[in-house]
Amino acid sequence: MTVLDWRQIATVFLDMDGTLLDLHFDNHVWLSHVPLRYAERHGLSHDEGREHCVSRYRAAEGTLDWYCVEYWTRELGLDIARLKEEVSHLIAVHPHVVPFLERLRSLGKRVVLVTNAHHKSISLKMRRTGLDPHFDAIVCAHDVGVPKEHPEFWGRLKILEPFEPAHTLLIDDSQPVLRSARDFGMAFVLGVRSPDSRQPDKTFPDYDSISGFRDLLAGGGLTSRE
Ligand SMILES: [Mg+2]
Repeated sequence: MTVLDWRQIATVFLDMDGTLLDLHFDNHVWLSHVPLRYAERHGLSHDEGREHCVSRYRAAEGTLDWYCVEYWTRELGLDIARLKEEVSHLIAVHPHVVPFLERLRSLGKRVVLVTNAHHKSISLKMRRTGLDPHFDAIVCAHDVGVPKEHPEFWGRLKILEPFEPAHTLLIDDSQPVLRSARDFGMAFVLGVRSPDSRQPDKTFPDYDSISGFRDLLAGGGLTSRE
C-alpha cells in the first residue's frame, strides 16, 4: 500500500470526466445518443450510425478536436451542445467526491479542475452538479492549446496556473495523461480505476490508483490512500 504524504502536497489537480464525474454520461452521449441522432438524420440503422461516428472519433483521437463541441457540431452536422442537454439528467458526481473536495479545502490545498473538456461541456457540467465553488480555479485545455496528454501541456499550464511539480498531486482516469504529468516531474499521480459506473474497472499497471474517493478519505483523514 502506497501512502500519500499529504504534508508534501500543496496543489491538487483533478480531472473532470471519469474522475470527479461518472463517465457514463459521456459514453452515452458519444456512443449512443449522438450516433442515434446521426443515424436518424442520414436514414441509417443505429449500428451503422455508431460505426460511422466511431470511425470519425478515432481519426481525431489525441487532439483537442476530439474534445471540441464546435468541431463535432461541424463534422457531424449535429448540434452537439443541444444533444448533451437532452441527456443531461445522466450527469452524475462520483461517490465521496464532495466530502473529498471539502477536506482538501479545509486543509488549505489549492484545488484546481484541469480538464480537456470544451468550455461548453464544463459549464453544462458545473451547472448540473454545482461543483464549481469547490475549486480555486478551473483550467480548460482549450485555453492551454494542447490536451493534457501532450508533452508540452504541463509546462504551458505552469504559466497560467503556477505549481511546483514536487508538491502537486494529479488524479486522472487517463493513463496517457498520468504519463505526461509524470514525465514532466509531477511527484504524485493517481489513476481512477472506475471512471464509468456501468463498465468494468480499468487497471493502471504503471501508476498507483484508487477505486474511488473513499480510498482517500478512509482511515479518518487524508493520510493514507487505502
Ligand atoms: Mg477523464
